[in-house]
Amino acid sequence: MSDDPGVELTNPSLEGDAELAFEGALRPKSLTEFVGQQKVRGQLQLLLTAASMQQRTPDHILLAGPPGLGKTTLAMIIAYEGNRPLRMSSGPAIQHAGDLAAVLSSLVPGEVLFIDEIHRMARSAEEMLYLAMEDFRIDIMVGKGAGATSVPLDLAPFTLVGATTRSGMLPNPLRDRFGFTAHLEFYADAELELVLVRAASLLGLAIDREAIAEIAGRCRGTPRIANRLLRRVRDYALVHGGDADLAAVHAALELYDVDEIGLDRLDREVMNIVLTRFGGGPVGLNTLAVSVGEEPETIESVVEPFLVRIGFLTRTPRGRVATAAAWRHFGLNNPQAALTLDVL
Ligand code: ADP
Repeated sequence: MSDDPGVELTNPSLEGDAELAFEGALRPKSLTEFVGQQKVRGQLQLLLTAASMQQRTPDHILLAGPPGLGKTTLAMIIAYEGNRPLRMSSGPAIQHAGDLAAVLSSLVPGEVLFIDEIHRMARSAEEMLYLAMEDFRIDIMVGKGAGATSVPLDLAPFTLVGATTRSGMLPNPLRDRFGFTAHLEFYADAELELVLVRAASLLGLAIDREAIAEIAGRCRGTPRIANRLLRRVRDYALVHGGDADLAAVHAALELYDVDEIGLDRLDREVMNIVLTRFGGGPVGLNTLAVSVGEEPETIESVVEPFLVRIGFLTRTPRGRVATAAAWRHFGLNNPQAALTLDVL
């Protein structure tokens, strides 16, 4: 577990076992239990009902959106709702076509295959997947060199559910083979309150509405973060022997470096670099990533979407640019704005 609470709260790769167990316990098990994303829920419901009426496997589904918005949860629900077995894998685990062939050839009829971070799968596996998705068939190469032959292998019909934080990185032939792409949006505060009320009741935690509303407003529109902040507040109340009330929320979130609008340490670091080191930008993604010591992918898929959504950052062809709202929030003067005034 990282010592860095700011990162821990947003970076799923740093989860410990306890965090994972906690997440698992709170996952909704049906579309009706799944809070928010009304449009996507309706679209999925229709697709799944039609498939079950025709007794066929549902079309392949791509779930796109920032981390923590419910992609894995939805993949599980797709399996539960159709009473189908679920196989879970991920792009980084599929580094060769052979890795994928092993998974595909062992699927049972109707199985749901979930591939998380599908944009990180090896190119050779991607090509195998095209045929598998379209015809439920793969070609396996037997032998090497001039004597190599390809042997076709029929697969059981399956539904692929792919999840990606970067749908733009998927090659078109792969994207086109999904029957439906769901774009998950950040959640509204009222929806996050429902997520939190549900989680608190599952955890048996007595927490007042004011405290719930405060957490909802500070979790970057993301249910995973809402649930984690709730856990930190629970810890705080437990250790200090008090109630899980507004004071506990303020104290716990201050301890974990979450500011009043939900920005964590990494968000603030990124904004600070854009504003102070690059005078508001434009600054390129790679330069920004190096400056904060993170991978460009983390900046692009974890940090940036929320900063764009709250109107602090815009993406331009020349790089990332801070907005007037960002200058105001951080209490800084925009030198560019002053220059413009001088010219006028
Ligand atoms: P992703 O796969 O998009 O990173 P997950 O599906 O793992 O996100 O969701 C992270 C956590 O947030 C899960 O523990 C789940 O309980 C919770 N969660 C996500 N979406 C919802 C939702 N719509 N309603 C209730 N809880 C949710």
